[in-house]
Amino acid sequence: MPAHDVLIIGAGLAGQRAALAAAQGGASVAILSKVHPVRSHSVAAAGGINAAISVDDDWRSHAYDTVKGSDFLGDQDAIEVMCSEAPREVMHLEHIGVTFHRNEQGLLDLRAFGGASLKRTAYVADITGQAILHVLYEQLMRHHETVERYEEWFVTSLIRDGEGRCAGVVAREVRSGQMEVFAAKNTILACGGAGQVYSPTTNALIVTGDGIAQAYRAGAPLMDMEMVQYHPTTLVENGLLITEGARGEGAVLLNSEGERFMEKYAPNKMELASRDVVSRAEQTEILEGRGVGPDGSGIWLDITKVPRKRTLEALREIVNIGKDFAGVDITREPIMIRPGQHYIMGGVKTDVDGATPIEGLYAAGEVACVSVHGGNRLGANSLLDTLIFGRRAGEHAAARARSMAMPSASRAQLHDDVAAIDAILARGKDGARRVSEIKRELGETMNQHVAVYRDAEGLQQALQIVKRLQEESERAYVDDRGTVFNQDVLGALELGYMLDCAEATVVAAIERKESRGAQFRTDFPERNDAEWLKHIDITRGADGAAQVSYSPVTITQWQPEERKY
Ligand SMILES: Cc1cc2nc3c(=O)[nH]c(=O)nc-3n(C[C@H](O)[C@H](O)[C@H](O)COP(=O)(O)OP(=O)(O)OC[C@H]3O[C@@H](n4cnc5c(N)ncnc54)[C@H](O)[C@@H]3O)c2cc1C
Repeated sequence: MPAHDVLIIGAGLAGQRAALAAAQGGASVAILSKVHPVRSHSVAAAGGINAAISVDDDWRSHAYDTVKGSDFLGDQDAIEVMCSEAPREVMHLEHIGVTFHRNEQGLLDLRAFGGASLKRTAYVADITGQAILHVLYEQLMRHHETVERYEEWFVTSLIRDGEGRCAGVVAREVRSGQMEVFAAKNTILACGGAGQVYSPTTNALIVTGDGIAQAYRAGAPLMDMEMVQYHPTTLVENGLLITEGARGEGAVLLNSEGERFMEKYAPNKMELASRDVVSRAEQTEILEGRGVGPDGSGIWLDITKVPRKRTLEALREIVNIGKDFAGVDITREPIMIRPGQHYIMGGVKTDVDGATPIEGLYAAGEVACVSVHGGNRLGANSLLDTLIFGRRAGEHAAARARSMAMPSASRAQLHDDVAAIDAILARGKDGARRVSEIKRELGETMNQHVAVYRDAEGLQQALQIVKRLQEESERAYVDDRGTVFNQDVLGALELGYMLDCAEATVVAAIERKESRGAQFRTDFPERNDAEWLKHIDITRGADGAAQVSYSPVTITQWQPEERKY
């Protein structure tokens, strides 16, 4: 049985940064991923990463913008950690080889992003995630003697020992179907978000909430799950992202009357208000009949305002996306967009070192909720979150490993998971639905009822559908009965994880009877600090259903105030 001081599940930015930090902390490290590391979803990150590195900036300004962007639900101690450590982290990236864009003076160039009081987003054209991910992977290979890589291994469950500590995981090799127990003194979940719970989404097919559901099933609390970000600029055709970097460079939003409607909603920040504000403004324009396109469900994003040379240099990836996926040359004509699911602010509850309430279990990146984003994440703060809290989790786990023995990881969970997979493979087709059909209904339901605008009736309807789909998923059949690269059976497991995440999201959205950040309840349209300035935590009850409790929001220096842009 493989055994490691620190076992990291996920090889996106959070996982790779955690692995490097743990290796530098002297631990024996393993990093395990269901896809090749550089195919992790972080590769899609486009517009950049925030840090107060310009001479006229200050990390406190970054922190205040983040608190305000979160609609005062973010935990300010964690936000202070993230923003104060950001400049050092970005300079570290630059020193290990990330080719950030430089200005004419040779300094790191910074672009404007939503909700920021000044330009503080460092970038590599619009391929920032890819640039960072590849450099981190090179660094991981430098540490090949202490960092074992298990590429294309799929974790099915976490293992807890007799005293409730996390003792490792069960995983299946994708290539062969072989199942194995991995023992670990500390396990760090860095499995990314759960965007595929929605359809459409900007997220890759692999973003299925596995880590969130596995932690939840093992007894860890989830936090802020109701807070789901809709990005203002996704393609009407298929939900692909057009980076906020476009608006940062000067692109504008127009309705069917050619009006720059953000003047009405956010006169000071206009298109660069926070994402929840801009998405709601667009949705309001669409609902009030000022949308564009054949069925009026779109908004124009006019990137022709940006000088063509600059677009071709700094936004070249979306030039290709526009051409390939919408048939539009964005340097010459507006492109039709609308709000689309993009990011989840919630996840596995952690402290500022990534530790969860389960001893030996950490989480970092989009899978986690240290609550630096609260009700709404500012653009370019997620890459920062992955790196700061990935590093801190890696360092903390490595230090903890020094003073402990290897826990005993029982094989009982392995037997359960093997039996569960055998049962999926043995399912008949009679009256059962395909995994993909159930997944589609889930995504469309969430996009209809748990989106930019929500109300009790729609949310209750969504909950009933999720519960029915949970039952149907127990019978869903798969076509591939083999062992080699059986993505079909992994899809059935992922469906179960997505349904858990969906249930937690809907239950929390029903519970929060106010409007804050990304949660706008048309039946409770005001923010209500007196009753709801608190986190909603979701744990799995003995009957398997989601249970609600609350935890306080940490406020250090910024008292809640009305949020205006
Ligand atoms: C199109 C797009 C553009 C974006 N642009 C930006 C941006 O410019 N700036 C910004 O700050 N943020 C951006 N974001 C958000 C940001 O990219 C993500 O939040 C972030 O990259 C998540 O990183 P992560 O390391 O937490 O997870 P991921 O990169 O999603 O990695 C998850 C890892 O977990 C592994 N994994 C998952 N489940 C299992 C399992 N069961 N077993 C084994 N391994 C598993 C996967 O293989 C993968 O290696 C963007 C998001 C999208 C969708």
